[in-house]
Amino acid sequence: MIILAHCNENFNDLQGAYLFAKIRKEQETYKANYPDADIISLGIGDVTQPLVPAVVEAMMKAVAEMGEAETFRGYGPEQGYLFLREAVALHDFKDKGCDVSPDEIFISDGAKCDISNMQEIFATSDIVAIMDPVYPVYVDSNVMAGRSGKFVNGSYEKFEYLPCYEECDFKANLPSHDPMIIYLCSPNNPTGTALNKKELTVWVKYAKQTGSVIFFDAAYEAFITEDIPHSIYEIEGAKEVAIEFHSFSKTAGFTGVRCGYVVVPKELKLETKSGGLISANELWYRRQCTKFNGCSYVVQRGAEAVYTEAGQKQIQKTLGIYRKNALAILAGVKEVGLRASGGINSPYIWVSVPDGMSSWDFFHFLLREAQVICTPGSGFGPCGEGYVRLTAFNTSEKTAMAVKRLKTAVKKYTNKG
Ligand code: PLP
Repeated sequence: MIILAHCNENFNDLQGAYLFAKIRKEQETYKANYPDADIISLGIGDVTQPLVPAVVEAMMKAVAEMGEAETFRGYGPEQGYLFLREAVALHDFKDKGCDVSPDEIFISDGAKCDISNMQEIFATSDIVAIMDPVYPVYVDSNVMAGRSGKFVNGSYEKFEYLPCYEECDFKANLPSHDPMIIYLCSPNNPTGTALNKKELTVWVKYAKQTGSVIFFDAAYEAFITEDIPHSIYEIEGAKEVAIEFHSFSKTAGFTGVRCGYVVVPKELKLETKSGGLISANELWYRRQCTKFNGCSYVVQRGAEAVYTEAGQKQIQKTLGIYRKNALAILAGVKEVGLRASGGINSPYIWVSVPDGMSSWDFFHFLLREAQVICTPGSGFGPCGEGYVRLTAFNTSEKTAMAVKRLKTAVKKYTNKG
């Protein structure tokens, strides 16, 4: 008898389909039934505005270089080209008063991979704390790694969930079980909540006291409009306890181009079984050299162009479109009596669903009555039930149309009730 190779049992602990795949399927089914429907998506977090000219020009120049023997480049440095790491260190950190050096920065093909892969340098026995609701990648990547335990009554038994309630502006309290890894996302996906300096200071102090490491996801920092930190390293002592993830996806329309980076500070040490200390930066460097062959030269030249004067001006113009959309959505949903937050430092608006509906009920209602796609909050965790997430990434015209349709549908529903 042939004995088949065994699957990684951890994968059997994953729950359902990946949320956005499920939404796409619902959308496709609706479209198949109603081919003429003009569906507008305020659901999936992809951007609509094209790359800015400064980025396009830099990438075209880099492509031309790749076509000449004198300037052709093969495998690049696994950590990323120094020109980009220097630009990041200067503009994303030094200019904001943070001391982050290029050798603490690792360029990648996006934050999703970094966030998922970073836990590889930590023991699988380390307890993980996650906000609820939360970006599903934090949960699923730890389930795959075997840190979750079983899924019982709607949650994983080994995770420490940090519920984020509306009464507390969707901000979590400190954990009570001293987890080793804490995921913080600010501005938050999905709630749009952003942590201020005082709140972040509390988290850094807590991590220092307990020996935890904060995985700080700053993928949406470019959307901050108020006076709050863009980086956790704006907090004193954070370099000893935090790893920070960035993405060019939403900042500069790189969702398809793919580029991001992670900061692994030299001050951050992990403990070995024998009680010694080891540098997280060295472990991550070793990991990347083994498993990653670098982000492409052309893409890194494009990312570098984001930091030029022209690039900055151009991306701010694009971000301005999304910011305006966010405010229009926020105002629109509030106008029809739905409670809503986010949208000010974030492209996400977190909306309470009408009484008597679940998140998925409201998803189906909006699709049926307004041909608008939202993301059901329950897909982000148990505390997301009763909410949906709307995103500001569509065009101004489509966003205005979607808000108009949503308002009409909700008004009709509430008047009937
Ligand atoms: N982090 C958060 C909170 C996100 O919402 C996303 C993408 O939607 C990412 C990270 C992934 O970004 P990237 O496109 O760089 O992989």
